[in-house]
Amino acid sequence: MSVTFSEETKVAHQLDYLFKPRSIAIIGASQKDLSIGNVIIKNLLHYGYTGQIYPINPKADEIRGLKAYPTIFDVPGEIDLAHVIIPANFVPQAIEECGLKGIKAVIINSAGFSEMGAEGMALQQEFLANARKYDIRIFGPNCQGIINTDPALRAYCDFTFTFPDPGHISVVALSGGVGAFIMQSLFDLGIGMRFYASNGNACDVSIPDVLEYYGEDEGTKAIILYTEGLSDPHAFMEVVKKVAKKKPILALKSGRTEEGAKAAASHTGSLAGVDISTELIFEKTGMLAFTNEVDLCQAAMAFATQPIPAGNRVGVITNTGGPAVIATDELIASGLQLPALSDKAKEKLHATLLPEASIGNPIDVVATGSGAHFRSALDTLLEEESIDSIFVNFVTAPFTDTDEVARNIVEVSRMRKKPVVCNFMTNMSMERYQHTAKIMHDGGVPCFSFPTTAARALGALYRYGKIQSREIGEPTTYMDLYFIKAEKIIKAAIEDDNEYLVSDKLYELLSAYGIPVADWRMAGDLKEAVIAASAIGYPVVVKAESPEIVHKSDIGGVAINLKNEEDVINAVSRMQARLGNVQNLRFLVQKFLPGGKELIAGISTKSGLGHLIMFGLGGIYVEVLKDVVFKITPITDLEAGEMLSSIKTAKLLDGVRGEKGIDKEKVKDILQRLSKLVTDFPMIKEMDLNPIMAFENEVFVVDARLKIK
Ligand code: ADP
Ligand code: MG
Repeated sequence: MSVTFSEETKVAHQLDYLFKPRSIAIIGASQKDLSIGNVIIKNLLHYGYTGQIYPINPKADEIRGLKAYPTIFDVPGEIDLAHVIIPANFVPQAIEECGLKGIKAVIINSAGFSEMGAEGMALQQEFLANARKYDIRIFGPNCQGIINTDPALRAYCDFTFTFPDPGHISVVALSGGVGAFIMQSLFDLGIGMRFYASNGNACDVSIPDVLEYYGEDEGTKAIILYTEGLSDPHAFMEVVKKVAKKKPILALKSGRTEEGAKAAASHTGSLAGVDISTELIFEKTGMLAFTNEVDLCQAAMAFATQPIPAGNRVGVITNTGGPAVIATDELIASGLQLPALSDKAKEKLHATLLPEASIGNPIDVVATGSGAHFRSALDTLLEEESIDSIFVNFVTAPFTDTDEVARNIVEVSRMRKKPVVCNFMTNMSMERYQHTAKIMHDGGVPCFSFPTTAARALGALYRYGKIQSREIGEPTTYMDLYFIKAEKIIKAAIEDDNEYLVSDKLYELLSAYGIPVADWRMAGDLKEAVIAASAIGYPVVVKAESPEIVHKSDIGGVAINLKNEEDVINAVSRMQARLGNVQNLRFLVQKFLPGGKELIAGISTKSGLGHLIMFGLGGIYVEVLKDVVFKITPITDLEAGEMLSSIKTAKLLDGVRGEKGIDKEKVKDILQRLSKLVTDFPMIKEMDLNPIMAFENEVFVVDARLKIK
């Protein structure tokens, strides 16, 4: 993983100048102890940077023992990277000079740009134009910088205070504050780090750029991402899809509540409040999403050293009862299972463990269990085909050789056959146990101080394995779509300046895309309504139709279960009387379809991302329980299936207590066709199919709304 800069070493990637600089100039270097221009030099020296450091300051000869230069032009050698720590006004000129000097990467620590409104934005644009002229990549402005822990380089281009050990986890965080505490937490947990990057306003080098770079970096085994919102969701998705296939991306997104999103918007120049879509992007691209920083950092410890389990079956070894019970609860909650052990395994354990040991899953080797007993249990679980991962609950009983236990756990973990996590219960103020802990740590066994956190970390490994092996599939190709017909309908509506499509056009559009609708006819008056009803066959429904009417039932515009001509005449007459002043009042006569389950499907748009598709149970389920799920279009067959299975009330779709289930395949088909429709016609802004009447063998849309941009 080491980087050497021999003569022949070519810079393989533009961002190498940023992450692997052979020389660094600090423009705005300062002799003042408590200034950024001083701290950065101090950090580079303290961390043992192996390249050249050039402080730039016209008034100083020397800073922290290093020769200072009045300008970058006075620096004798080439400069790979420059830190810019001068007032915002002077930054555009400084970038111009960097260009002339041939510098290829610049970290702008200074603030006072896009985060400060129009004036700052103009300055940002000005220096960016200069950067583009000379092919300089800009990191920041208003940012911390980067860290590369590679022992051959040790580039600490940052003003923070955590000095991480080399490791395999790379961190990228939009917010320096969050980045810094994640880095500190990893440090406290004894997890090494590979790269760190916090890019502030991110005017040029973006989070996707960094992710792509980490993706290609061999030394990075897992990535931690923190973001508050995405300025270009589409670009983000394209990059992340590729990177997430190669290595785990543990992602944390804040601003999940409206208040949180507002807080994010007020302190960064980025686009926040695109919350739901960010989470959907995490899901769609195969990132491992976390809702809090604690779980994320704890999980990182497991990802740093352990392989990904092949499945959800865990074997538990413990030398104390209660904590194993707590762990088991959390393991189950995380989707893991504790299968029974095979007879062969039980025999082996009977023969090797203490007589008072409890043989099963969990295996209790009891408090007096020795290293050999633990080892026998560990080996047994390694050999068990029905076990994918191992959870160890290890209390450092004073009457056992805890170091020996630790060494055995380490040896098994090192085999990397199955992931091992450990809930390690001890008194860290005692030297004896510090020693045991060190064996565990140096051996790369992820140790946690609560059964729950250990179980959750294993749960995260499993969750990632599931995401990795998940076949997302392709959107179904339909050969029965009438694109031209659909296009005609939409074009006509746009030409007529209609915001909403009228019902007859809308039902024709749905039919053109193969979405089943309840049999219908349009009627201009009472006579036509009666003819329509008998053509459809009783019972029917009559609905008032006009471009002015949005919610029909609210104004008495829906009459259901009309059994005969008389019912239709009454219903239409009543609507005519009540809605006399509505323009272009017409009547949609529709087949009455009683006894189905009411479903809802919908489409909304998110800027920069396209359409989101929604699905749920209609009626009270959507109104009261908000039990709906969203996905980004286009959706695949598999994703359509996930939409059905992931609502809270999914069981109702299969029928409960003797009730019949619904035709889920047909619903999946409708969702995919809907997704295809809006993909083909991006000018569709919103859509609602509410309700869709679903039966055991059939599904029909009975009400729809479509809004055009
Ligand atoms: P709106 O949503 O504009 O008020 P809908 O067409 O959705 O009007 O009708 C309101 C309700 O009437 C539906 O949610 C459904 O319960 C019922 N309904 C409408 N059309 C039918 C139909 N063809 N068969 C059975 N029930 C229907
Ligand atoms: Mg409706």
